Amino acid sequence: MKYWVSEIFTSIQGEGQVIGTPSNFVRLAGCNLRCVWCDTKYSWLRSDGREMDLDDIVNSLDPRVKVTTITGGEPLLQDLLPLAHRLKQMDHYIIVETSGTVRPDPELRKMVDVFSVSPKLSNAGFRFPYDLNEDWATYYKFVILNPEKDLEEVTGIVEKFRLKPSKIILQPDGNRKDYENALRELADAVTKNRLPYRVLPQFHRILSYR
Ligand code: SF4
Repeated sequence: MKYWVSEIFTSIQGEGQVIGTPSNFVRLAGCNLRCVWCDTKYSWLRSDGREMDLDDIVNSLDPRVKVTTITGGEPLLQDLLPLAHRLKQMDHYIIVETSGTVRPDPELRKMVDVFSVSPKLSNAGFRFPYDLNEDWATYYKFVILNPEKDLEEVTGIVEKFRLKPSKIILQPDGNRKDYENALRELADAVTKNRLPYRVLPQFHRILSYR
């Protein structure tokens, strides 16, 4: 089995419910979206990645780290079953980061420990016709640029698909130079509106860590 891979590295999980966890990262190449604020544009095209077989990928992981995050791009555009099988044989905890535009098959769902699903709001520059009815995400992560407007959109999605508010994580625009202010504005808006969502920073944004 071959995969189109953008990069493989080991670091600390920088966001979401698993923030702070040391992890191997396998960033697969190719994405079906074009978010205006995307910070991994180099992963948009398969042709910008390199073809690697399963053995090459697992041999590139740090054997001391038993957590692997499969990210992108959009990783669910490639068949993750063989990779997930191999990682489970190696007793790895598997995190998949996805935009939620491609539904994973049931067998894969059994093997993945965390699905970090990041549906895009209209601030990404488009509207994707999301169907989150099956609610297969471990949690949902939304990028907020304009708190008042974007939080209304988040609540609309939560109500439409009857998502549990406890599964909602908000993070500010990582491209803002005044990141601390962006985080404060978001926290203030959540507090002011008494919203039941969590606000989290990106670890790597605060420390420029990699
Ligand atoms: S889905 Fe992710 S990788 Fe794709 S364009 Fe949006 S932010 Fe970038």
